[in-house]
Amino acid sequence: MTEVDKSAEAKVVAAVQKRLFVGGQWVEATGGGTFEVVDPSTGEALCSVADATPADGRAALDAAVSAQAGWAATAPRQRADVLMGAFELLHERVDDLALLMTLEMGKPLAEARGEIAYAAEFFRHFAAEAVRIDGGYQTAPAGNARFLITRQPVGPCLLITPWNFPMAMGTRKLGPALAAGCTSVIKPAHQTPLSMLALMEILAEAGVPDGVVNCVTAMDAGGVMEPLIRSGLARKLSFTGSTRVGKVLLEQCAEKVLRTSLELGGNAPFIVFEDANLDEAVDGAIAAKMRNMGEACTAANRLFVHESVIGEFGDRLASKMSALTVGRGTRAGVQVGPLIDEAGLSKVQSLVADAVTRGATVLTGGEVAAGNGYFYPPTVLTGVPRDAKMADQEIFGPVAPLTPFRTESEVVAAANDTEYGLVAYVYTNDLRRALRVAESIETGMVGLNQGIVSNTAAPFGGVKQSGLGREGGTVGIDEFLETKYIGIALGSN
Ligand code: NAP
Repeated sequence: MTEVDKSAEAKVVAAVQKRLFVGGQWVEATGGGTFEVVDPSTGEALCSVADATPADGRAALDAAVSAQAGWAATAPRQRADVLMGAFELLHERVDDLALLMTLEMGKPLAEARGEIAYAAEFFRHFAAEAVRIDGGYQTAPAGNARFLITRQPVGPCLLITPWNFPMAMGTRKLGPALAAGCTSVIKPAHQTPLSMLALMEILAEAGVPDGVVNCVTAMDAGGVMEPLIRSGLARKLSFTGSTRVGKVLLEQCAEKVLRTSLELGGNAPFIVFEDANLDEAVDGAIAAKMRNMGEACTAANRLFVHESVIGEFGDRLASKMSALTVGRGTRAGVQVGPLIDEAGLSKVQSLVADAVTRGATVLTGGEVAAGNGYFYPPTVLTGVPRDAKMADQEIFGPVAPLTPFRTESEVVAAANDTEYGLVAYVYTNDLRRALRVAESIETGMVGLNQGIVSNTAAPFGGVKQSGLGREGGTVGIDEFLETKYIGIALGSN
């Protein structure tokens, strides 16, 4: 297998700034602290980046606050042009950015390239939205006054992103924030700070003024971000990550009543009815399960397959899953990279062991091969009982657990039997059943006969404990805008 040249790897890592981006300047952390970024395919350090202190976080927020009025006052067209400039730079540098992402996060190069394109698309999408922020003019019911309705940027924002989509989860927030006229401080996950640091250079080059976007990297996420949330200087928090951390942040936001958007965990049901096209359902299951090695909030976490087709579906899925090539994401042809870290790997191992103990059968995978890196093989389990731990938790790995069902009402009840409500996938050729099930499933998104729902132009988000608010689509910018109404007395002439 061919592999990316080691010197090319070293070059992209060396090219990234490893410091904090505050007020348009690259600065060391106060006290000079750093932490290591690790390549999950080897377990070895790639480099070290600045470890921000609470004072550094405060300096970043102060810079965002100072830049807010100026950025809010820019012409929407100017903000759109800056976003389009960043869109183009992301595409121009896709090779280096994809390699950097693969090195810090592990996903295969082809997926990393796909993520850069997806990430860039948020800038193009919100460039178009920036010049379409609407308002209104209305006659009061009594006829003697008018309502002028206008929309203004929320103000300085705190943006916190996870490691699984190191670039796209950032641009999904920065795109609408910039388009709306908001400044921000962004904090990427400690496992994958390099992609976001590389984006800071691109944004500066595209013409984002000093202080409008600031980036802090830190090991002590809570220690740095909590004082900012409680400071009263930020007006909004937009968080993507686990439900556990999202709940902590929601409580912190209550103190100063911050506007809050939360994109949290998922536990997606993937339902295959007896009339489904099985070829399409198997391919859809692979897309929904294996994107990002299963480390996605949208990953199919519970596959409910009608009892009359579960045998055939399981065999076909296992055969395709076992044919996937596992390895370091920089190698040509690799389709499945390593998991993010030791903790991620042991979680998957213990969830599989638990399911097997409770009676599940392994159709393929299930055994970790010896060697470096946090690799887990594509795995299919069948006969997974509903009380298995993986039925309640995000597996976040390449494991597809199959459970049989008999009736539509039974499977809808099982699908809804979770605290999460992000996305569901439904495979059937019966239109009426498709719509009935799509309407009764308690999720923010449904994939009907398709295994991927993410699209910049569609509203992404969940219900129940999967979150608050939507990103992307025409509503994504609303999360960064306040509506103001100005009442006008006409008087008499
Ligand atoms: P996580 O542990 O919740 O961390 C997410 C981010 O929050 C990281 O930047 C993390 O920083 C930071 N953080 C952790 N504790 C914090 C605290 N007390 N105060 C402030 N920030 C804090 O989640 P993850 O493991 O990175 O990501 C996986 C999770 O994200 C999964 O649950 C997945 O479903 C979810 N996710 C949801 C969506 C969606 O759109 N709904 C998309 C992608 C991922 P450090 O890492 O530096 O500690």
